[in-house]
Amino acid sequence: MSSYAKPIDHLIEALSKLPGIGKKTASRLAFHILRSNLSEAQALARAILDVKEKIRLCSICFNLTDEDPCWICQDEQRVREVLCVVEGPNDLIAIENTGVFKGRYHVLHGTISPLEGVGPENLKIKELMERFQREKISEVILATNPTVEGETTALYLTDLIRPLSIKVTRIAYGIPMGSEIEYSDGMTLTKALEGRREI
Ligand SMILES: [Zn+2]
Repeated sequence: MSSYAKPIDHLIEALSKLPGIGKKTASRLAFHILRSNLSEAQALARAILDVKEKIRLCSICFNLTDEDPCWICQDEQRVREVLCVVEGPNDLIAIENTGVFKGRYHVLHGTISPLEGVGPENLKIKELMERFQREKISEVILATNPTVEGETTALYLTDLIRPLSIKVTRIAYGIPMGSEIEYSDGMTLTKALEGRREI
């Protein structure tokens, strides 16, 4: 039972469907929107519609984009021979934000997960293999997460790519800055040791 006017109820209901937003937060947001001026509310509504109407997948790397090919694939300054394979668009953004990687990407849109019924055919793996025929790639960096699914996917891809005489590398995972060895779990420590390099 709610005593609000119907449009307010509808807004609260719509907002509370968002992840991490409970009824209380939803009504706080709804009243914030109600108090804001019309142009602010219109900008919010427009922004929501824009992502649904304008965002699609890049036909080359499958990154989210509003232009095809995406801005990274269009960038002539990028190293064209090196591909960094990531699970999702958020991983791409995280790597991009470091400013360290100058190559291009391939977004898988998930990981192989037999438990959840996700097989290689559900990911952009066929599309990755097709890129090797079209493009001259010398190195593939596998930047999937250090989870069971991420490791499984990396191994699967390694088996597919190695026979093509393309160098396959895996990003090194280690102990996060500020944390301590004695509190690190076994997988983190193993990866830290495996990813060691000469100093
Ligand atoms: Zn792209």
